Amino acid sequence: MILVTGATGQLGRAVLQTLIGKTAPNQLAALVRDADKAADLLAQGVDIRVGNYGDCASLEQAMQGITKVLLISGGGERDALQQHYNVVDAAQKAGVQCLAYTSRALKDPSTLANQLMERHFQTEEYIKASGLPYVFFRNILYMDVLPQFMGPRVLTTGINLPAGQGKVAYALRSEMGEAIAKVLLESSCDNRTYFLTGSQAYSFYDVATALSSLSGKPVGYTPVGTAEFEKALKDRGVPEPVIQRISPFMTDIKNGQEEDVSSNLEQLLGRKPTALTEGLRTLFNL
Ligand code: NAP
Repeated sequence: MILVTGATGQLGRAVLQTLIGKTAPNQLAALVRDADKAADLLAQGVDIRVGNYGDCASLEQAMQGITKVLLISGGGERDALQQHYNVVDAAQKAGVQCLAYTSRALKDPSTLANQLMERHFQTEEYIKASGLPYVFFRNILYMDVLPQFMGPRVLTTGINLPAGQGKVAYALRSEMGEAIAKVLLESSCDNRTYFLTGSQAYSFYDVATALSSLSGKPVGYTPVGTAEFEKALKDRGVPEPVIQRISPFMTDIKNGQEEDVSSNLEQLLGRKPTALTEGLRTLFNL
C-alpha cells in the first residue's frame, strides 16, 4: 500500500490523481492534517489517515500496513527539518520498504542564497543514513509560481525582478505529480534520484516574450537590483518575512541554480513536458 503525505496539497493531489487512475484505490492511503479537506479522496476509496509531521504518534499510526511512502516536503516552519526526520523515523519503525521524497533540483546546494532549500538536502542525507531504500525527486521550480513571482499587474507593468539573465527549467506541478506517481507504481526502489525539470530553461526575457505573444500587448522584462525589488514589495504592503522568503529565490535564479535541464521528466511522462508558452496560456487564462 502506498501512502502519500501532503495529500490535500497541490502536488499531493496531482500525484493521487494519477495513482487513482492507474491502480486500485484500496492500495492507496493519504496522510492529511484535516480529514474534511480529503472528503473527495475518501469518496474515491482512498484510505484517509490523519496525522501531522510534528506528531510522531500520529505518523507511526498512519504508517501501519504501508509498504511505500511519498514524503511531500512541508512548508518553511522553524521545525520543518525535524518534521521530515519524524516522518523518516516513523517509516523506519513501521517497516516501510521504500521512502520517496520530494526534494529540489538546484545546481549547487553548497552555494545557495536561499537557506530554506537546505532542509531538502539535509532530509536527503537523513534518509540515506536511515538505511531505508529511497527514491528522490529533485523538482525544479514550479511554472505555476510565475504569476505570484511577477505580480497581479504584470501584463501592465511588465516584469521587474532581480533575476538578471538567470534561467529556470520550469515544469508544471501537475506533470511532476504525474511523473512521481508513475515511479511510485514501479516495483523497484533502488536509491535513484530523478531530476524533474522542463525540457528547456527560460529567462525572464523569454517569459516576457511569451506573455507578449499570448496577450497581444508588449510585456517587457527589466532586471532590477535586489534592494529596489525589496522596496517595491514593501511599498505594496508585502510583509518583511515574506519579502525575505521571496528575494533569495531570485538571487538563486540569477546565479543559475535553477537552469539545469534533465530528460527524466520527459522520459517518465512519455511526452515532452509542457513548454513555457503553453503553460503560461493556462496559468494566465490567455
Ligand atoms: P502545498 O499545496 O502547500 O501542499 C503542502 C502539503 O503539505 C499540504 O497538504 C499540507 O497540509 C502538507 N503539510 C504541511 N505541513 C505539514 C505537517 N506539519 N504535517 C502534515 N502535513 C503537512 O504545496 P505543493 O505545491 O503541493 O508543494 C509541495 C511541497 O513542495 C511544498 O510543501 C514545498 O516544500 C515544496 N515546494 C516546491 C516548489 C517548487 O517550485 N518546486 C514550490 C513551492 C513549494 P494541509 O493541506 O493541511 O495544509
